[in-house]
Amino acid sequence: MEQLLEKYFRPKLPHMWCPGCGNGIVTAAIVRAIDKLGLDQDKTTIVSGIGCSSRAPGYLHFDTLHTAHGRALPFATGIKLTKPGHKVLVITGDGDATAIGGNHFIHAARRNIDLTVIVFNNNIYGMTGGQYSPLTPHLAKATTAPYGNVDRAFDLAELAKGAGATFVARSTTYHAKQLAELVAKAIQHEGFAVVEAMTGCPISFGRQNKLGKPAALLAWQRDNTVPVEAMGKLTPEQLAGKIPIGLLHQKTAPEYTAEYGKIIKQAMGGRS
Ligand code: SF4
Repeated sequence: MEQLLEKYFRPKLPHMWCPGCGNGIVTAAIVRAIDKLGLDQDKTTIVSGIGCSSRAPGYLHFDTLHTAHGRALPFATGIKLTKPGHKVLVITGDGDATAIGGNHFIHAARRNIDLTVIVFNNNIYGMTGGQYSPLTPHLAKATTAPYGNVDRAFDLAELAKGAGATFVARSTTYHAKQLAELVAKAIQHEGFAVVEAMTGCPISFGRQNKLGKPAALLAWQRDNTVPVEAMGKLTPEQLAGKIPIGLLHQKTAPEYTAEYGKIIKQAMGGRS
């Protein structure tokens, strides 16, 4: 990891994340995926919105943009359209991606633009005070839901798939190796790729919901997830309440940047 630290991280430590936060594990998984694929750092851009997870690009040695709340995808779309040869990764949180940025999320998925979106799902708005997000579980506590969240949470993977994403995967900080492998596959996929990274927030979410120490949050991820390949072998009782992890959906479809390029060429009378 020391070599990776030197190559991919800016010397900005100490970081701002709380002790025991899972965001470092997800960031390390992204860096491992990038290293495994040998991406050119000068042709890889990482864009984020606002929130705890969105601070990650600030620590990474690439071209990075820390944008406005919920707006990472429009910025990333602009970059991809002007630099189609570049790999563009988006780091966002559950609130950033599915509340204020929810419209951008579904339309980027619908267009199947070639972006790799890693959603750090900590089930809450951590940085801004522990308010509930669209991925806060039903009846979980938040500062804006002190008696329990009355809303029902989105299933992010189903949302992405339903909106047209052509690659959808989910893993957790407990399954860090699998998470890095899925991020690598998502980067290689041509089209809108979403990886939901379930990450523990021991402070804003864990404390309010009395989930215990950071290790207990990791144990929760271990005990409440099931590999998608194993689902067929389990009974409905064994599957009750379990969250599938792994590669959940992948298909091919025309990619937006390439399609847009064809229209421009046509408009230019065949000249590129
Ligand atoms: Fe991590 Fe939660 Fe602290 Fe944010 S508030 S840095 S998500 S532990």
